[in-house]
Amino acid sequence: MSSVISYTLHNCQRCLKCLQVCPTQAIVKQHDRVQIKHKNCINCGRCIQMCHNQGLHAKGSTLNDIENYDHSAVLIPSSIYGLCRNIDDVRHLYGALRQLGFEEIVDLSDIEGALLNKAVDLAQNSDELVILSKCSSTVGLIEQQYPMLYNQVLWLNDASEIAARRLRKKHAGQHIGIFLLCECAAHLAEAKYPYGKKDSEVDHALSVVDLFPKISAMKEFFPEDVQLCPQGLISSSVQLMKEHLPSWVMIPHGHEQLTAALELAEFNQLFDYKMMIPLSCFNGCLGGRLLWGNPFSSESSVVHLLNSANKPCAEMSEEEWFL
Ligand code: SF4
Ligand code: SF4
Repeated sequence: MSSVISYTLHNCQRCLKCLQVCPTQAIVKQHDRVQIKHKNCINCGRCIQMCHNQGLHAKGSTLNDIENYDHSAVLIPSSIYGLCRNIDDVRHLYGALRQLGFEEIVDLSDIEGALLNKAVDLAQNSDELVILSKCSSTVGLIEQQYPMLYNQVLWLNDASEIAARRLRKKHAGQHIGIFLLCECAAHLAEAKYPYGKKDSEVDHALSVVDLFPKISAMKEFFPEDVQLCPQGLISSSVQLMKEHLPSWVMIPHGHEQLTAALELAEFNQLFDYKMMIPLSCFNGCLGGRLLWGNPFSSESSVVHLLNSANKPCAEMSEEEWFL
């Protein structure tokens, strides 16, 4: 995976805090500046969080790219709903995205829910610990620092890729631009440089934090009904996954928990577990470093939204499950 982290020299105060937190030694000091070794970067975003001087940020596409297409669609992962306190806020978000120029808005919660159910089914029948590939940053960490675990990664397809392929079929013959709204640098990178060596069907990855000023300035509601899938919402939340998944699923989140769990897995010490969902950010995807809320209020928002979610999980065909 390539890095989406970019460095701004004139903002940098040379404190080197970014270098100290990078888990893969992807940041080095060279002359009087820091340099990112892009092939080592796993897009965990720890350096961005640590830099208080705007020296580093995750670079995605811009809204100007919409103009290059006859039709534009934006994909919304469940973690983005952590920014919405209730279903009206979700409608507001959809309305704002329409006003920003997207003609089609695609909720991913039904596909995310189906993928989570599939992973649990597969892990249940496995003889060894299954590690879900949901967070590409943790897969990058495994590849570099825990290679013995690499064969245990379950390569389920990403919900955005499945939705994008469906959109391409639906709009065959049309010049459609597919954008993914991203809560973290890893998702930004994944949309552009996916694992599995396949080209992504997603054309552009947008950082949600870049859209924040525009979205929050818009007050109009979009009258269309919005339906969310409860299992997809659950898949975005560490707390809800712990409540709803079997006790043999472990969900280490945040760097310290993650490395502790991977070290134990490497030495085959996780006897009580059949599946691990390792997540790089504290509080998982709801703690995505490109979200503007805090992970605690996002958690409570998603719990709240669960009450108004009744969309069933997506029907999937066999070829859609795997990378
Ligand atoms: S943390 Fe920010 S200011 Fe400090 S060295 Fe890194 S980029 Fe520069
Ligand atoms: S995103 Fe993570 S891996 Fe990449 S340079 Fe920053 S801290 Fe290092």
